[in-house]
Amino acid sequence: MKKLLSLFKKHQEWRGNCINLIASENVMSPLAERVYLSDLMHRYAEGLPFKRYYQGLKYFDEIENRTIEKFKSHFKANFVDVRPISGTISNLATFSTLAKKGDKILTLGFQGGSHVSHEIPGAAGLLGLKVFHFDFNEKILNIDLEKAKKKILKIKPKFIVLGGSVILFPQPVKELKRICQKTKTKIIYDAAHVFGLICAGFFQNPLKEGADIITSSTHKTFPGPQGGIILGNIEKDLQKKIQKKVFPGVLSNHHLHRIPALYLTLLEMKKFGKSYARQVIKNAKSLAKELYNLSFNVLGKEKGFTQSHQIVVDVRENGGGDFVAKLLEKANIILNKNVLPGEEKIDVIHPAGLRIGVQEMTRFGMKGKEIKQIAKFMKEVILDKKSPEKIKRKVIKFRKSFKKLKYCFKA
Ligand SMILES: *Cc1c(COP(=O)(O)O)cnc(C)c1O
Repeated sequence: MKKLLSLFKKHQEWRGNCINLIASENVMSPLAERVYLSDLMHRYAEGLPFKRYYQGLKYFDEIENRTIEKFKSHFKANFVDVRPISGTISNLATFSTLAKKGDKILTLGFQGGSHVSHEIPGAAGLLGLKVFHFDFNEKILNIDLEKAKKKILKIKPKFIVLGGSVILFPQPVKELKRICQKTKTKIIYDAAHVFGLICAGFFQNPLKEGADIITSSTHKTFPGPQGGIILGNIEKDLQKKIQKKVFPGVLSNHHLHRIPALYLTLLEMKKFGKSYARQVIKNAKSLAKELYNLSFNVLGKEKGFTQSHQIVVDVRENGGGDFVAKLLEKANIILNKNVLPGEEKIDVIHPAGLRIGVQEMTRFGMKGKEIKQIAKFMKEVILDKKSPEKIKRKVIKFRKSFKKLKYCFKA
């Protein structure tokens, strides 16, 4: 018991003293945390609001129903399911609705920024789908549109998956829509990473551009509780099928305490989302530029490095992604190694790159000056080979002034 509490306390203190740059993470607002930790975490609710298999939910039904309606109106979607307990579960439910064993699908592949759930080791493989890949154009750091069109016509996949885990620029959803209509191919846009930016109107809106369905996590640039969501503009029949895959297909209880926190985060995004998203993208561009000027090999210089919360750095010359990420951790700078777009030999244990996201530090109020300082810390550790322990002390001091969350309601 003592040991557990001490480890727990250490973790809390440590991550609060770190520069957190993992692109898939974020923190909820204090008020969202308050409505997250509630009696609802002990309760069960199978099925849909007002049509449950359990009693005791009269207030919760109203909360979930309002959450669904709020997302529907904000995203102009005719279908929303907030029950998936993670992005992967959203994909599993959606993929299994749209395709069956042996069917062909077209995804980005790891070199193009796919999430593992789109691929053979993940949900797509679990469902027995045949996974084909888009050709990725490293120059534009995006899908090769002409080759993609040909591939869709040739393969006639059941669905394509856009979006992804490494996503620096908007993708040609509109352009692919025309081809997909010819082959009756559905477009799923996995917005896990950029959902908050889309919500704020600062990244391409996939539904507006022709995607049939958005699958997503709710905790990356969208700073909600960890969980998943499915949205779409689809026919009633398909809506029902997806709902059935969510429950009883891939889950039973859906971790109810998430839902009020999700709703509250959407309300916060409606109020503060634009200034948050604008600053996130600005910070990402600045960090890329700073690192580039310090002679790091940041991808995408010709295109302004990024239009999302992420940047990608090739650290082959500095010891590789695994080595550099571990070294930075010793200095309290937390990020993750990643396969580079277009990397030839895929080695997920020893990839050539780093993926960096600025959304969490932006929420703590960091701007231009701090971004410059972060780049400098990274240079000192990686290029100047200064002692990470020494930099760690500086990082802790630096982080002290950025402990209070911005862009949210007062708790
Ligand atoms: C993070 C991520 C997921 C998985 O989300 P979980 O909530 O971790 O299951 C799915 N798709 C993409 C593109 C992601 O980046």
